[in-house]
Amino acid sequence: MGKPIKSVTIVGGGTAGWLTAALLQAFGRAQSKDAKPLQINVIESPDIPTVGVGEATTPGIVRTLQNAGLSEKEFFKRCNASFKLGVSFDGWNVDAKGKPISYINPFVKAPNIRGIEIANYFAKFGAGDQDYVGSYAITNDLVRGLKGPRTLGSKEYDQSTGFAYHLDAGRFAGLLTEHCKARGVRHIAENVLEVKQDESGNISELILDKTGSHAVELVIDCTGFRGLIINQVLKEPFIDYSKYLANDRAMAVQIKHKDQTKIEPVTRSTALGAGWSWRVPLYNRIGTGYVYSSAHRTDDEARDEFLAHLGNPEGAEPRIIPMRIGRNRNAWVKNCVAIGLSGGFIEPLESTAIYMIDLAVRWLLTYFPEADYADPLRDRYNKLVDNLYNEVRDFICVHYRLGNRTDSQYWIDAREELELPDGLAENLELWRYNLPSYYDVPFNTIFDAQVYAAVLMGKQVYKTGYAKGNIGAGLNLDQKLWREAHKQIRQNNLARAQRAADHRTLLAELRG
Ligand SMILES: Cc1cc2nc3c(=O)[nH]c(=O)nc-3n(C[C@H](O)[C@H](O)[C@H](O)COP(=O)(O)OP(=O)(O)OC[C@H]3O[C@@H](n4cnc5c(N)ncnc54)[C@H](O)[C@@H]3O)c2cc1C
Repeated sequence: MGKPIKSVTIVGGGTAGWLTAALLQAFGRAQSKDAKPLQINVIESPDIPTVGVGEATTPGIVRTLQNAGLSEKEFFKRCNASFKLGVSFDGWNVDAKGKPISYINPFVKAPNIRGIEIANYFAKFGAGDQDYVGSYAITNDLVRGLKGPRTLGSKEYDQSTGFAYHLDAGRFAGLLTEHCKARGVRHIAENVLEVKQDESGNISELILDKTGSHAVELVIDCTGFRGLIINQVLKEPFIDYSKYLANDRAMAVQIKHKDQTKIEPVTRSTALGAGWSWRVPLYNRIGTGYVYSSAHRTDDEARDEFLAHLGNPEGAEPRIIPMRIGRNRNAWVKNCVAIGLSGGFIEPLESTAIYMIDLAVRWLLTYFPEADYADPLRDRYNKLVDNLYNEVRDFICVHYRLGNRTDSQYWIDAREELELPDGLAENLELWRYNLPSYYDVPFNTIFDAQVYAAVLMGKQVYKTGYAKGNIGAGLNLDQKLWREAHKQIRQNNLARAQRAADHRTLLAELRG
């Protein structure tokens, strides 16, 4: 047995650093005999800025904030947060007549009818003028009506309708900093100049620019794309995903709301000529950007295209962000665990990165080491993190592989030139004959079969030549039963949407 670890040092004060600190502080085990909680230190450079983006989240964020002990109301006010009910994919595919499709990937679970997933009924019988999501979820109605997921006066964190948040990344890190410091996390605003290793290769000491030597036990590398410790010092190889995903650059800018009273409760992802543009509406402004492939656009070309897409807003000067897409071979090496952008990054199409930070910290706590850093703990942690990156990569690949645009070389290359990971290639062949089922992606943490079905149906692949078999051939589907069930679901959703509060009014109430 090793000695108990008494302190954790986090290098980096972006969302990854402070979220890691907040969750470690909330759950960190008392390992010493005197049962003192873990001492958590965050070393943050006062000179190196954070990446400054990362403003859309997944529903897991609700549990993150609750578990970290944050008040939802304070979060809304401090982070200019808004609700996100899903992602609207605009212009990623065209329908059978060549018209661009817009569909939402919602945060609402699809019900089943007598044990059969609703997607099977929809694929066979359709649902009148509703698209697949409209056939079961309230999301389209709420988004169309600019409504939030709740009524006025609801309880904090009420989750009767699934949602995530949009947040101001800089303010979020600020709120977490304050929250952590008030709970005993030590904040060291200094630059790490040098990283020293002991004879076994473990990180033993950090040399800081003002106070000099800082001895460490367990170190968390949250230094962003530079991977200061994991890559530069420990030399862990980076596994590049560019053969699967083409986008390697982004540009970001903040713009004003055209009408401050109309705040969409959805993240928009609009397909452009060489990638896609995100639009994240916060309470006070909109965060937007263009994720693109440098093989298909220079920065100048991308900037022109992006600004034209925005309607050339006055004074908008997008900031270029080069992206390192892929993951480290291992996230945990020796006594260092890389969390956040230092560990890896997959383009932000599904806004998963913040949730991946949350999961990484929970897994670290589950497999928390003693000072001997036992291999089985590290191996299991690394396996989970690898699987998670591959899961997210695969899901993102589907958006491109099943795109059917032919109007730009980028979309043709994204569909025809990029490689598919093996497991995904097998599933995509299978789904020509059958809808995604639980058994096809049984170990997925974020993207289950229902979410895959929502994307396939949203893209209308079964109406545009993808199917090779009769979908759901073996199921005895009763059309009358479906019609009645669908009618009931619609009525219920319309009534709930009617009662839901206007999004902006709800935000104003939450902000006090
Ligand atoms: C274009 C783009 C869009 C994104 N959109 C989303 C999204 O919608 N949703 C989502 O969940 N995620 C998104 N992400 C990812 C998200 O931004 C990051 O996961 C998140 O911000 C965490 O970043 P980080 O803390 O790992 O790195 P950073 O923000 O880069 O922070 C690095 C920290 O390390 C410190 N540091 C570096 N070197 C030293 C040193 N020598 N000494 C001391 N400190 C040092 C810096 O000062 C800084 O505090 C996006 C990313 C990109 C690139």
